[in-house]
Amino acid sequence: MTVQTRSITILGAGILGLWQAVTLARAGHRVRLVEASAEPFADCASILAGVMLAPEREAETAPAMLRKYSLEGVAAWRDFYPDVRANGSLVIAAARDLDELDRFSARTEGHRRVSGAELAQLEPDLAGRFGTALFFAEEAHAPAPAALAFLLSAAQEAGVEIVFGETSSGDGADIVVDCRGIAARDDLPTLRGVRGERALIRTREVSLNRPLQLLHPRLPLYIVPWDDGVYMVGATVIESEERGPVSVRSALELLGGAYAVHPAFAEAEILDLCAGVRPAFPDNVPRAVVREGGRRIFVNGAYRHGFLLGPVLARTVADYIEGKPASELLVEHGG
Ligand SMILES: Cc1cc2nc3c(=O)[nH]c(=O)nc-3n(C[C@H](O)[C@H](O)[C@H](O)COP(=O)(O)OP(=O)(O)OC[C@H]3O[C@@H](n4cnc5c(N)ncnc54)[C@H](O)[C@@H]3O)c2cc1C
Repeated sequence: MTVQTRSITILGAGILGLWQAVTLARAGHRVRLVEASAEPFADCASILAGVMLAPEREAETAPAMLRKYSLEGVAAWRDFYPDVRANGSLVIAAARDLDELDRFSARTEGHRRVSGAELAQLEPDLAGRFGTALFFAEEAHAPAPAALAFLLSAAQEAGVEIVFGETSSGDGADIVVDCRGIAARDDLPTLRGVRGERALIRTREVSLNRPLQLLHPRLPLYIVPWDDGVYMVGATVIESEERGPVSVRSALELLGGAYAVHPAFAEAEILDLCAGVRPAFPDNVPRAVVREGGRRIFVNGAYRHGFLLGPVLARTVADYIEGKPASELLVEHGG
């Protein structure tokens, strides 16, 4: 079937807008991507993400219907981005919290229990530190700055016209795809912000091959290895739209978590401690909201899943524009 070429303006070059741009341009549409900030990624939630592509671990708290889309998302990243790190991920717990590990195991799929000896093979620097772990072999990760830069250049290569430092209503385009994140709240009254704090630290004293989640009573605490000894330690999940500095309590919990995983993290340099706001709908399910008979489509509410579900939401919108049956991630009106 030949696709009818449409002129499409996308607002916002965060992870959702970039995936829309690449997918719609590759589908044959004329795409213009307009980003308000003058510098790429200067004012988006996406640059703060750990970029864990963790469909199974996220399923512990996410609505059940998201699991199949999350699995599609990780597969799409593996196909698309050659630098995705497909080393799996690990969940560990302090000896006193081993019943938490059993509970996590019962609530998730796609893992196997590994002994302390197997854990030491997977992560030699953790040898002797934890007696058991859950290994999620199919999960993946990537450093956020590199993944976003790759998508931006893929959009350019696909012929997308990219404009920074502008806002636009999209007038003149056949279709506007609105990916403004939390800035779209005026049009999406149920959208809320969920604060996430994270630390970037650097050390050569610890080497990890994959994300580690340390079960913690108050936050999903994880350490994601990026490049050159940099680790992203995240992240709080706080019902607040405050983007101000990280609290002492959160800093203690994040950095204390890293220290509990390996004491050598105590000597790491703190490169950055900051907070962002994740856009979320009340049910924490990201979706495409169609308005004006399809002339305006909001893609938003990515919550903790912007990277994981970005490719799936882009396919959802491309299919809708091509008149294919709508996925349950697409709703008319709503939001
Ligand atoms: C600490 C933390 C850790 C996270 N970890 C992960 C993770 O490991 N995996 C995962 O999948 N997700 C993770 N997330 C969630 C993820 O970051 C978000 O789901 C995602 O960034 C939302 O993307 P977005 O494109 O909707 O919004 P944004 O990234 O905020 O992008 C919106 C863009 O729109 C632009 N804009 C605003 N107004 C206008 C306008 N009028 N015209 C044009 N442009 C405009 C903004 O400048 C911005 O660049 C994490 C989030 C946080 C805070």
